[in-house]
Amino acid sequence: MKFDVLTLFPEMFEPIKHSIINRAVEKNVIDINLINIRDFSKDKHNHVDDTPYGGGAGMVMQADVVYDAYNSIEGKENAKVIYLTPKGQTLNQNKVRELSKEDHLILLCGHYEGIDQRVLDEIVDEEISVGDYVLTGGELPAMVVVDSVSRYVNGVLSEGSTNEESFSNNLLEYPQYTRPENFNGKSVPEVLTSGNHQEIAKWRFEQSLITTYKKRPDLLTEEQCKQAEELLKNSQN
Ligand code: SAM
Repeated sequence: MKFDVLTLFPEMFEPIKHSIINRAVEKNVIDINLINIRDFSKDKHNHVDDTPYGGGAGMVMQADVVYDAYNSIEGKENAKVIYLTPKGQTLNQNKVRELSKEDHLILLCGHYEGIDQRVLDEIVDEEISVGDYVLTGGELPAMVVVDSVSRYVNGVLSEGSTNEESFSNNLLEYPQYTRPENFNGKSVPEVLTSGNHQEIAKWRFEQSLITTYKKRPDLLTEEQCKQAEELLKNSQN
């Protein structure tokens, strides 16, 4: 999977140069290429933005500069171009899974007041938001996309890692425990040390259901809500 990121601040991408994502880059499972939009400025002062037509606060990134930066990308014709913007569709795990099926994503990061609409109309396939709030730039959202999508690319995580986690099967994950078996007077739930895999799977499913019911009931069907209520009632008896 190849990510080309169009940004005015490539130095902001330090956080994804570590840990799992870095190992995936080193194994050539993913490729992250940062393109500095400022390199395509049209003047000797390296300007990339100008005041908005019609007036108002802030600066707007210029269409021709962004367009030239985009045109420098090899293989762009077969890539999906995503503009990170608060006006886009909110990212969720289904969208992440869908994007992981692409071979090549171009992520366009805005800054200041955003980007001239004419170049967005010309090159963007999809707009994605990371939530209903406004950030100073698209760099953090682009890193969120690279990180979350890469997890679904073959070879990035160990096999099965994404099968049983929050949002797989529309449930939040069950609680996890590791050594020591006793911590501050609290011991690990007995079933987890029983070695009975069937019982462990049952316990984990029930805990997932209860956790989701308590924290994100909007994810559950009416039937699952009833099931969670029943489990909670039985656990109190
Ligand atoms: N004037 C724009 C508006 O009101 O919709 C906001 C511009 S914002 C200050 C600058 C850039 O940050 C945007 O062009 C976009 O790339 C990025 N950005 C800000 N919030 C975002 C969010 N929630 N999701 C994705 N990108 C975001």
